[in-house]
Amino acid sequence: MPTAARTNPLVFLTDQLDELKAKGTHFRLRVLDDEQAPVCTFDGKKVINLASNNYLGLTTHPKLREAALEATRKYGVGSGAVRTIAGTMKIHMELEEKIARFKNVEACVVFQSGFTANAGTVSAILGKEDFIISDELNHASIIDGCRLSRAKILVFRHKDVAHAEEQLASVKSQPGKKLLISDGVFSMDGDIGPLPGLCEVAEKYGAIMMVDDAHSSGVLGCNGRGTIDHFGMHGRVDIQVGTLSKAIGALGGYVCGTRDLIDYLYHRARPFLFSTSHPPSVAATCIAAFDVLENEPQLMEQLWANTRFWKKELGLLGFDIGGKTTPASETPITPIIIGEGRLTMEFSRELFKEGVLGTGIAFPTVPEGKARVRTIMTATHTKQELQQALVVLERVGKRMGILV
Ligand SMILES: *Cc1c(COP(=O)(O)O)cnc(C)c1O
Repeated sequence: MPTAARTNPLVFLTDQLDELKAKGTHFRLRVLDDEQAPVCTFDGKKVINLASNNYLGLTTHPKLREAALEATRKYGVGSGAVRTIAGTMKIHMELEEKIARFKNVEACVVFQSGFTANAGTVSAILGKEDFIISDELNHASIIDGCRLSRAKILVFRHKDVAHAEEQLASVKSQPGKKLLISDGVFSMDGDIGPLPGLCEVAEKYGAIMMVDDAHSSGVLGCNGRGTIDHFGMHGRVDIQVGTLSKAIGALGGYVCGTRDLIDYLYHRARPFLFSTSHPPSVAATCIAAFDVLENEPQLMEQLWANTRFWKKELGLLGFDIGGKTTPASETPITPIIIGEGRLTMEFSRELFKEGVLGTGIAFPTVPEGKARVRTIMTATHTKQELQQALVVLERVGKRMGILV
């Protein structure tokens, strides 16, 4: 029984939160009341949703929904163990084989998320005597994987192939393994990694080449096969990572490569070894999603038609949608660059009040002074919804002095 009043040892957290509040970048979670859809209800308010990664609208696709329900009826709700103990179900294997065929590689391993796929893979294959050459804007899960591996990290300027080569050259005579790693599509700016150049220098220096296609799966390449297919780089990227949580509409991450790479990860990737596998419904959902990618190419066509329309209209209104002080987007990710963090968060809140959800993103997720409202197009937004959102964006933008 504690007798004296105890001082709260977590009080420093309250101080730090107060600091965020003073800076205007503290946020409250917005809660979705219904389905993840182009028009949906957050915190009791109906809004046009420009914030999800639901590129193809698969979160609510009838075939995926049915696949999840059927698998739940047949196999129950959980896998009951990690993959290596008793938690590998036939449906997990089926999904891995399906993805490997889709990606035209020998083998595939599915992780619980894209985050664990990246962090688990990089930390499993490299050690402290090795080197990682990494784009400065690579995703947090890559950065964490690099740190967990204890390898030496050499960062190259965003998409700067010459700088990547310089970094590789600087450790050329060192004995450790070298890993060259890039996002396929960069999540905050929507630009595409320079894969042809990077593969070339990786080959020149005998480095392992790894690409994270989280935002390109279901978006770029034939039927959404990602940036490797987009650039025709088959066979030249040793480790391909993707997510099942964005365009695929459910949850998970995967790694594609040789049979031995995958077998090695089965033995050494810590999230695979120490964290329970997906419920059967998730695996079934993802299998159905790859069928949809192959059989309903009109979804991707509509995604790109909407993307072209959206970028053109936002540009005409006079918003900075990248390409000036930030990289120019080449994908459905369309940032509206505001600059200052507080103004960005205020803009996002005002948009919400008028029925548009666009998330404000500030430092440290993006560099200081490059805060933005990131919008992401999907295949399932209607023209009318987009036009309505544009009216709101223009009105709020003018009112707040963001548009002149
Ligand atoms: C979203 C994202 C991830 C993480 O994927 P999850 O499946 O959501 O864990 C990894 N890499 C990149 C580039 C991403 O954008």
